[in-house]
Amino acid sequence: MISRVCDRCGQPIEARALRYIARIQVYAAYDPLEITFDDLSRDFTAEMRRILEECRDLTEEDLMRDVYVDFTFDLCPACQKQYIQDPLQIAGSGN
Ligand SMILES: [Zn+2]
Repeated sequence: MISRVCDRCGQPIEARALRYIARIQVYAAYDPLEITFDDLSRDFTAEMRRILEECRDLTEEDLMRDVYVDFTFDLCPACQKQYIQDPLQIAGSGN
């Protein structure tokens, strides 16, 4: 009985067969803030207006994609072996 399909190669994965789950989280990194006196004395009103204007035509989903995205993939054993060798697919990109 087939319960899943490998998200990488499309092969069916039988129920109770060995399969792998690849979870990928991509989120905005941040460094600790260093706030100076100049920062505190600046008027950010114009900058906030500009940012709000940039966001005006974006959906909530668009905005979230800039901050956090996660993916979950089912992998068959053969794809798991290939995937962990080169998860960023650098070898096959020609770079
Ligand atoms: Zn596969």
